[in-house]
Amino acid sequence: MSANVLASRSAQYFIDLEEQYGAHNYHPLPVVLSRGEGAFVWDVEENRYFDFLSGYSAVNQGHCHPAIVATFIEQARRLTLTSRAFYNDVLGEYEKFMSAYFGFDKVLPMNTGVEAVETAIKLCRKWAYEKKGIADGEAVIIVCEGNFHGRTSTVISFSSDPSARTHFGPYAPGFIAVPYNDTAALAQALGNPNVAGFLVEPIQGEAGVLVPDEGYLATAKKLCEDANVLFIADEIQTGLCRTGQLLACDHENVKPDILILGKALSGGMLPVSAVLADNHIMLTIRPGEHGSTYGGNPLACKTAIKALEVLRDEKMAENAEAMGKLLRDGLAALQSPHISLIRGKGLLNAIVINHNDPDAAWNLCLELKENGLLAKPTHGDKIRFAPPLVINETQVQACVAIIKKSLEIFDRS
Ligand code: PLP
Repeated sequence: MSANVLASRSAQYFIDLEEQYGAHNYHPLPVVLSRGEGAFVWDVEENRYFDFLSGYSAVNQGHCHPAIVATFIEQARRLTLTSRAFYNDVLGEYEKFMSAYFGFDKVLPMNTGVEAVETAIKLCRKWAYEKKGIADGEAVIIVCEGNFHGRTSTVISFSSDPSARTHFGPYAPGFIAVPYNDTAALAQALGNPNVAGFLVEPIQGEAGVLVPDEGYLATAKKLCEDANVLFIADEIQTGLCRTGQLLACDHENVKPDILILGKALSGGMLPVSAVLADNHIMLTIRPGEHGSTYGGNPLACKTAIKALEVLRDEKMAENAEAMGKLLRDGLAALQSPHISLIRGKGLLNAIVINHNDPDAAWNLCLELKENGLLAKPTHGDKIRFAPPLVINETQVQACVAIIKKSLEIFDRS
């Protein structure tokens, strides 16, 4: 048996294991990854790929960044989890670091992204009852149509995606949806005196990298201020240099009242999320009212400090800005009739496939894989192009060449 046959069997072996023993809640591309470095991942057959998903933007700093790995290992040898029943010698340093880095009085540490969203919702409601004076149980949070904020039962209650919602009811009340990128609709919804917050993605990632009109965030923030409503930015996907600024809100000089972070906060090492706010909001939550066993654990805190230092020291926002422009210009220069739209900011980008076949985007991703680039369709005809922020000019050019070559499948069919 040739080495190749053995290797391909081993890929199928791992796929079969997941199929047989794992819940079928994902539909992965048929590639079995085994290691990563920077902008690259390798499969079990040692084929190398550009990673254009970056763990859904969790590995902005590049795979297995050596400085983050070293910090992670060092802390893992020392102390990993104390719970919040006791103090530890890392959490306070982390909170101070986060407060200075993002310019908020306080941080509330959690683990996954959706937990941080849940935390922000609870915090917003607490503020509404104790500071704004909304009658208990009556608070409403405005969300946007097409949103993606995670998968808990409350959060999917205000999703407009049938596959996220169907047969998962009954749904949590207390949310109203307005069209994204529509300040008139927001202004109208803000007329309801029970509105406590406006929860928004500065760019809608899962929806297919929908970039709102310039000025949308700034206007929305102003409308919220005028209505005494908290502007809550979910920067779990758009934050941490992904769009060419530390936060996507920075493009419009908007400071959210509540900032939600996750994903790349640990550089892909472990789930670390955070909610940031100033004292008049954050201190409405008191001891015993919210928490998480792993939230604020020393391993997460040390890793997150290093992950944030790496973003700053290696100027990843600047690189994302420059490489994103290069990528979009390179794609536009292809003038492909198979791409109907190229959009994005920094290195959060998507193309929309111009094809009647509903499988076209999936088939293109399979072809991209064959040619050494991994990407995943989102919502049918869109493909997100979001490589790690360490990608360089030569690599971006190589990727554009791969995309060009892969688009040829549509000329064959
Ligand atoms: N919010 C946004 C904007 C996201 O993109 C995601 C994940 O893709 C989440 C929340 C949920 O994060 P997690 O999957 O870590 O719970």
